[in-house]
Amino acid sequence: MPAFELRVLDGADCVGGNKIAVSSGGDAVLLDFGINLKRKRDYLLGYRALTVANTLYYYLYSGILPRIRGIYRDDLVGIDERVGEILEKGEPVEASMCIFSHAHRDHYGASGFLSDKIMLAMSRSMRTIMEAMLESSAASGIEAEIFEVRNRIEERREPRERSIAIFEEYSSIPSAPFHVTPCPIDHSIPAAFSFVIEDLSLAYTGDIRRHGALKSLTDRFIERAAGVEYLIIEGTRIDSSIMVREDEVIRDIRRYLEDKVGKLACIIISPADVDRVRSIIQLSEELGRIPVLCPRAAHLIDRLAESGTKIPLPDLRGAGIYFERRSLTGGGYDLESQHYRGWLRKMYADRLDGRKPGALVKAEEISKKQGDYLLILGGLDQVLELAQVRPRPGSGLVVSTSEPHDEEQEIEWARFERWVNLLRLDLRIAHSSGHADRETLIEIINEIRPRVLIPVHTESPQEFQRLAEAGEISCEVLLPSPAKLLRLAK
Ligand SMILES: [Zn+2]
Repeated sequence: MPAFELRVLDGADCVGGNKIAVSSGGDAVLLDFGINLKRKRDYLLGYRALTVANTLYYYLYSGILPRIRGIYRDDLVGIDERVGEILEKGEPVEASMCIFSHAHRDHYGASGFLSDKIMLAMSRSMRTIMEAMLESSAASGIEAEIFEVRNRIEERREPRERSIAIFEEYSSIPSAPFHVTPCPIDHSIPAAFSFVIEDLSLAYTGDIRRHGALKSLTDRFIERAAGVEYLIIEGTRIDSSIMVREDEVIRDIRRYLEDKVGKLACIIISPADVDRVRSIIQLSEELGRIPVLCPRAAHLIDRLAESGTKIPLPDLRGAGIYFERRSLTGGGYDLESQHYRGWLRKMYADRLDGRKPGALVKAEEISKKQGDYLLILGGLDQVLELAQVRPRPGSGLVVSTSEPHDEEQEIEWARFERWVNLLRLDLRIAHSSGHADRETLIEIINEIRPRVLIPVHTESPQEFQRLAEAGEISCEVLLPSPAKLLRLAK
């Protein structure tokens, strides 16, 4: 086995922001290049100073991005001599490819800063999810330039497309410098992958669980990875043994909403969790309520349907789509208004013209027949839409979002709760995590039996060491840090 070097550039002792460089024989791949949302939150004071010309400088200065030479865009380094000065002292990494595990922004969201010489690798459905979610998000500037790069030295130039390698499950990633096998797994978003780098005997879990509808995919990955020398494992929930299965969550929600006859029922979920959206739509029909989907979820489903994905999609024929009141003209629903962004206008127009399934439903219609609907919203901030519906006191609101991946989802809980109380809603939390709990992580490790374990994506990496000392897992645990270059397989 060739010698190789591993450096966890970011995401070693926190949840999210994974950026892992694996180098051997003069070439390297990056595994994920996500936004470190926690660090970004810690340092971001507002968007005033965060112009395109300053973003990379601030991000490197505050450690939102790692100080690594050779991976960032030439144009961004070229326009700012301060960036060059910071990077001069950084360690070099010469990567030819960045491989994404899934379409959560803490895994791919910082790749707008990556050099366009680095090819991006993802599955076809993962690409569609990234594109659809980016389009309908608040991301702007460099962070939105995942698929197209606008050269900032020659500002007026047309955007250039990045080179993309599309991979298929269980077949080697084309153009990768190593033999990398993508293995689909179960997580809180479809098209999520773990990887085995065959020539280095290294596996990387990405974000993984074994208690959702796609458990069998995770099982197959574990079989495939069994016996690797090195395992990079996510440890989001290494300090928790709570394990709520996805089907239990749906059962809890059903039991709770059954008692809300004549009142409004509303669920907040992540629009990208297509499997859960599908389950809730099905549940809604079983409860005799019309599901009304938030626009971002409908947009994502449209885009996936157009792409011919293999992901099972919900049938929108009997469903409603929530019509946001946005314009100053036309009674609030004038699609010609600039207050409807392009993707939203098109998604609504497709319904008005009958080109796509799903009927548009306005807040006032829901308000009149509250017991007829189940409203599916895409984030805590959308509680404001409920103020337009004016729910009957005691109406049901279920929060079923996974860990915050979207900045939009990250509005403070306290502010959300104030609205919940003002609206006199009966709030419940029903959630199944996208991440394996401690006992499942131990199982995964003991089934794969790596010689060396490298935990990432966790606030408690030392818990893995404790488990090794207690004999619950039998492998050497290497705790990575951005400053530490791990030389392996010597
Ligand atoms: Zn994730």
